[in-house]
Amino acid sequence: MNDVVLKPGKEKSLLRRHPWVYATAVAQVVGRPQPGDTVRVVDCRGDFLAWGAYSPESQIRVRCWSFREEEGIDAAWMAARVTEAVARRASLAGRTDAVRLVFGEGDSLPGFVADRYADQLVVQFLAAGVERWREPLVDALVAATGCLNVYERSDAAAREREALAARTGVLRGRQPPAEVEIVEDGVRYGVDVVNGHKTGFYLDQRESRRLVAELAARGGPSAPGLNCFSYTGGFSLAALRAGAAHAISVDSSADALAMAARNAARNGLPEAAFECRVSKVADAQKALAAEGRQFDIVVLDPPKFAPSVHHVDKAARAYKDVNLKGMKLVKPGGYLLTFSCSGAVSVDLFQKIVAGAVIDSREDFVLLERLAAGMDHPMRMTHPEGEYLKGLLLQRV
Ligand code: SAH
Repeated sequence: MNDVVLKPGKEKSLLRRHPWVYATAVAQVVGRPQPGDTVRVVDCRGDFLAWGAYSPESQIRVRCWSFREEEGIDAAWMAARVTEAVARRASLAGRTDAVRLVFGEGDSLPGFVADRYADQLVVQFLAAGVERWREPLVDALVAATGCLNVYERSDAAAREREALAARTGVLRGRQPPAEVEIVEDGVRYGVDVVNGHKTGFYLDQRESRRLVAELAARGGPSAPGLNCFSYTGGFSLAALRAGAAHAISVDSSADALAMAARNAARNGLPEAAFECRVSKVADAQKALAAEGRQFDIVVLDPPKFAPSVHHVDKAARAYKDVNLKGMKLVKPGGYLLTFSCSGAVSVDLFQKIVAGAVIDSREDFVLLERLAAGMDHPMRMTHPEGEYLKGLLLQRV
């Protein structure tokens, strides 16, 4: 039996069922657990707290599987979590064939991510525990979905913190095509699962893409939009398909915008309606302001500015700056959708930063809605870190 014994008082977060044990909380390791082995986490008196996966190189020394002593952590347990997770998303099937099927801690499988793009599955093993159980996890996923093609994208930075080398490649079935086509809310997107960001697509923005479509439809055919940090054009396509006359997509990646342009063609959109600018957003914002341009809908969806809590102050300045410049480009009566995907920037802090930008803009905005990832990104109520994506829908008054 491998036991991880905590220091006195360090059991508190586990009693609240927070699923991480930091290295600094550990008093002693009994036995010789190897990376990914199941350990029993106990308090300083030896009382059971949780079952978890041991990760000797990570600051998060144990990620908990279960707080129930009677549960056995084995291949059948892993398969049951996968089956539950897939079933949890069943209601999305009518809207889309692109869904995050498993989302780490939110589905009781810390470090495991599985996305479905039509008949292609893409998986990430981002912690020692799920790395250890990769075969049963993939088997369960194939069984639960009937999808025979599985590609691995375990190349996220999180692997380094677990002392795991990056690994990518075919796990089951065929080499993925250069573009897997998905359909979400009637819009077609090509997804490059081999080279794209994350597993190829920002599934977490599905609800906000729908919101943009609704706003564009309400605004009538005049509504022109500005999509900053557009990646492969998701928000632009959603707006144009809903009736917007014109959208500008700005991204520093020429590859992402090339895919965006192919996506526009895929949806039969006229080329003139779909403008792309390969540029830093700050430069494009400056240029558009100089041209005197303003838009009915402006989207700001920057990359993660704060990779950890140590970067929050610097990130706050960057968020404020991009928002301030973005606000200047919103027409009176127009909308701003602004996002942060930094887990270290809380919902409250993000709202304060954006409020700061509103003050500096000398314009007025009202908050209409708070935005978040959809139901295929569940957050455990005892693990608030899972709520990484937050956004605000503002209207300029
Ligand atoms: N809104 C997108 C996802 C955005 S991800 C969607 O819904 O699909 C962030 C994007 O910002 C990436 O495509 C990246 O290439 C781009 N990016 C990062 N820094 C940038 C910068 N300074 N200027 C322009 N684009 C940038």
